[in-house]
Amino acid sequence: MSRKPEGIPSVIPHYIDGERVESVSGEAFDVLDPVTNEAYTKAASGDKADIDKAVAAANRAFHEGPWPHMKSRARAKVLNRIADIVESREDELAAMESFDSGLPITQARGQAQRAAENFRFFADLIVAQRDDTYKVPGMQMNYVNRKPKGVAGLITPWNTPFMLESWKLGPSLASGCTVVLKPAEFTPLSASLWAGVFEEADLPKGVFNLVNGFGESAGDALVKHPDTQLISFTGESSTGQLIFRNCAEHLKAMSMELGGKSPAVVFADADLDAAIDSTLFGVFSLNGERCTAGSRILVERSIYDEFCERYAARATNIVVGDPSDPKTEVGALVHPEHYEKVMSYVEIGKSEGRLLAGGGRPEGLDTGNYVAPTVFADVSPDARIFQEEIFGPVVGITPFDSDDEALELANNTRYGLAAYVWTNDLKRGHRMAQEIEAGMVWLNSHNVRDLRSPFGGVKASGLGHEGGYRSLDFYSDQQAVHITLGDVHTARFGAN
Ligand code: NAD
Repeated sequence: MSRKPEGIPSVIPHYIDGERVESVSGEAFDVLDPVTNEAYTKAASGDKADIDKAVAAANRAFHEGPWPHMKSRARAKVLNRIADIVESREDELAAMESFDSGLPITQARGQAQRAAENFRFFADLIVAQRDDTYKVPGMQMNYVNRKPKGVAGLITPWNTPFMLESWKLGPSLASGCTVVLKPAEFTPLSASLWAGVFEEADLPKGVFNLVNGFGESAGDALVKHPDTQLISFTGESSTGQLIFRNCAEHLKAMSMELGGKSPAVVFADADLDAAIDSTLFGVFSLNGERCTAGSRILVERSIYDEFCERYAARATNIVVGDPSDPKTEVGALVHPEHYEKVMSYVEIGKSEGRLLAGGGRPEGLDTGNYVAPTVFADVSPDARIFQEEIFGPVVGITPFDSDDEALELANNTRYGLAAYVWTNDLKRGHRMAQEIEAGMVWLNSHNVRDLRSPFGGVKASGLGHEGGYRSLDFYSDQQAVHITLGDVHTARFGAN
């Protein structure tokens, strides 16, 4: 039976002003199946001309269309319909996502559910949104007039494409913005479903636009377009730095969710069984292509040998295979370029640590972007595999002797996205949480997130925090309106 899902177009089009269109240039690029590395379709290759059309459509919809002016409840109804449709297409969506990205099918299914939840959550939030009023008795009343910012440029990566797109689409649309989405070039397939979902949900024409293409052409043009008021970007830190510079010319608002090299700190007093389950899942789920992966494991010396032995035995046992097989735990990496990058780190790791598991291609999988779950122990804190984001199923482990040393090792990185601390000592857990330089800390858990809480990194992992009301704040301006109630003291310039 063919693994290829049905209904894949021969060229994945752009979606501009309610129409599925080819590129102005007529160009298209190959999209590869990560299991065979053969091109299974093409995607329209956008550049400045396509971005100009898409931004013009979004700008028209913002200034002339109903969306920014609709009552919150009316916008929320559309968002809830979107969530219902996404949920009803879960099987189709998960199959496409898994086929396009190489994510195991069971994990792709979770992504569809989360995407639906993102829309439902922001539908609720926008209806419950309240803004402040301040009274200065007898003198003034001030209130906040919240307004959608305008045309939002949304740029997303390939690791969990549909879910990450929903993460930006939910709050930007809820706020009343109109949008142009530039999905990652490695994984354009699931993004092509949005157009149908939004049409079925009656989102007004021009509110959502999508341009496929490469970062340096389509992405760059979106960032530099004078009519995009803000850029919400998720991707590598180095790309974020470049976009930051390019946004400066027009002083655009930016939200940057960037890379990570997150520590998982395991103390001897922790529930070791739970810590092993969780730290395995934390780095090997989503093929290790996870921004919040706990890819540096720090273990207290008294349990270090036992931890390493048990961890490596489990990693060796992980089922690597065809992403469409429900038994698969680690699938194929997204693209041969990324596979080469991850494999180069596996080779570097062999001279930087003691190889405990994996270390290459899994046996019996001779083609496709498969990497055996790889574990290195005794990794020096300054080793490249401990400092650089690998974004694959590769983890380094190192021992520590004291709380202070654990903290120093945890913070010894340019990144600061997530951190995981395993201890049953309340004081120690809180002290670590407060002193670790990371945007998000989990005590005794991997990444399980309540959508109301802030999401984002510090240091090289990001700029600005989204999540809950913070996302709505990012996509809106909060204008202060001051109303005079009584006499205002005015110096009478020129009166004498
Ligand atoms: P990437 O930076 O290569 O690309 C991300 C997106 O940016 C793509 O759509 C790409 O086409 C576009 N892009 C590239 N150059 C551009 C430019 N000059 N101007 C405008 N757009 C440009 O990242 P990736 O390889 O797709 O994704 C992996 C990275 O994403 C990892 O570093 C990972 O940690 C990070 N990530 C972070 C989070 C988070 O929330 N912090 C979540 C997921 C992934």
